Amino acid sequence: MLSEPTDAITIREGRVTTVAGSRVIRVLPTRGRRTVGPWCFVDCMTPNDFDNPAPLEVGPHPHTGLATVTWLMQGEALHGDSLGTEQLIRPGQLNLMTAGRGIAHAELGVTGPAFGVQMWLAQPDAHRNGESRFEHHADLPQLTVGSAEITVLLGSLGEERSAARFDHPLVGLDLRMRPGTVEIPTEQDFEYGIVPMDQSIKIVDAVVEPGWLGLVSPGFDSITIEAGSAGARVMVVGGLPLGERIQMWWNFVARTKDELTEAWRDWQTGNTDRFGPVPSKLARIDAPRPTWLRSTER
Ligand code: MN
Repeated sequence: MLSEPTDAITIREGRVTTVAGSRVIRVLPTRGRRTVGPWCFVDCMTPNDFDNPAPLEVGPHPHTGLATVTWLMQGEALHGDSLGTEQLIRPGQLNLMTAGRGIAHAELGVTGPAFGVQMWLAQPDAHRNGESRFEHHADLPQLTVGSAEITVLLGSLGEERSAARFDHPLVGLDLRMRPGTVEIPTEQDFEYGIVPMDQSIKIVDAVVEPGWLGLVSPGFDSITIEAGSAGARVMVVGGLPLGERIQMWWNFVARTKDELTEAWRDWQTGNTDRFGPVPSKLARIDAPRPTWLRSTER
């Protein structure tokens, strides 16, 4: 049980950046840390102006070697991908898109502003060149733990298990905490990342501000989280350490620069065997040129 101060907890600040004109706080990757379990990317979509937000419009773009996990707390968006999927996502629903060797997709805000998280799972080596797939889960398990209402996006908590598929042992939870302390059951061999969305929390004695990351090392069967008088909305991601060193660049996850270059070239040359057409009225997004390529290379 993690309920005493310990160096198993480390805190990282997120950094503000923009994705297709929308403000996000990038929580993962962070300095010196690429993954938490298989989770390799966590962006908090937090409009700085809820009354006049920039529209969520992300035109067709590719992915490889990862699964995207889209989770909204406010707003609605339309997902379209090269499998032919067109799926509206609302708060409380999960969109899970697995790229394998290659997929392309677009996202268009329908009602805004979009408040939520966009996260990626690195696919392990045995799966990362496989088939792409898309799942929409409108009915996810929910349970009450102490003063928190918890939705299980991926993996399981107690007896409750999400039906969403995954390639590497993991968990993804959304906690709606009332004021006070909650003891979340955890797996001893998992590492965890804890991300408050709207209010600061404490993991034992460590303060974590909204858009920051509380990292917890493996070795505990529960973690104690405390919300202040306003309660808190908190994402918890965790998993078995991936045990593979990934390389991430732009929208691709791979293992080598050569693989990243090949994915870049396949997108830029319109290789539809790898990245098919996307049902979207938005303009296709060009990939930037890899910085490691010499200017004469194509
Ligand atoms: Mn994407």
